[in-house]
Amino acid sequence: MREIEDFTDDRLKAWCIHCGNVISDVPSSRDHVPTKSLLSKNLRERGAKYDRALGGELDYLPQVLVCRQCNSNFSSDENYLLCVLHAVMAGSLYPDPAKYPEAATVLRSNRHVVRSLKNMPDGQLFLFDDLQPFTVFPDPDKVRRVIVKNARGHAYHEIGEPLLEAPSYVAFVPLQQLTPEHRKAFEAVNSSANLAVWPEVGSRMTVHLLDGEAMVGGWITVEPGRYRYAIDWSDAITVKSVIWEYLATETRWE
Ligand SMILES: [Zn+2]
Repeated sequence: MREIEDFTDDRLKAWCIHCGNVISDVPSSRDHVPTKSLLSKNLRERGAKYDRALGGELDYLPQVLVCRQCNSNFSSDENYLLCVLHAVMAGSLYPDPAKYPEAATVLRSNRHVVRSLKNMPDGQLFLFDDLQPFTVFPDPDKVRRVIVKNARGHAYHEIGEPLLEAPSYVAFVPLQQLTPEHRKAFEAVNSSANLAVWPEVGSRMTVHLLDGEAMVGGWITVEPGRYRYAIDWSDAITVKSVIWEYLATETRWE
């Protein structure tokens, strides 16, 4: 992305957007929004170069200043979501390294997450081999925390709005589970798809993938196929995102 000079009122930058601490009173650091690990290695490397003033002008990756404590508190949930996405996309908790090298590496180095994903919500051992398509039941709270972190960051980065309160709702659902009408409402920037009314599918993630479609105006594409987001602040503030062209999310502050 091209970095755009930020003319936001500096008074709005007084607090960490996550905990409300006064930024100048605590150690702070730049946090990537979206979560950097969701992007390809190539783009992450280009972004790091840009930060050292070496990269191309389109290689900026969006980031916001937050307190260091909050920044590091998100890591384990972000890592968890990354594992879930890799497992779902590869259709296995033990993907074939020849076919899914990135997924295999990530899941192999996160055995504790793999173990936790074998449990059903009721605590029963999850016989994932029996479910077709491959299905995991991730902890919705962990996924939600990453979605809210990124939504707050997007709103702050794009419109300079620190949203210190808890959102009115957070919802996420695989794109392919939306009906055509819901999909249309979701893709239209100035409308809320109201994913909150969707049945509790957030914790149920299956493997089918939609064909990637070219994305229309209003959406900010951080990396094609990896991450895009849209913000509507005409009424309430609604942040929508699509992660890996698979997971649709919507976070709303009334
Ligand atoms: Zn904080």
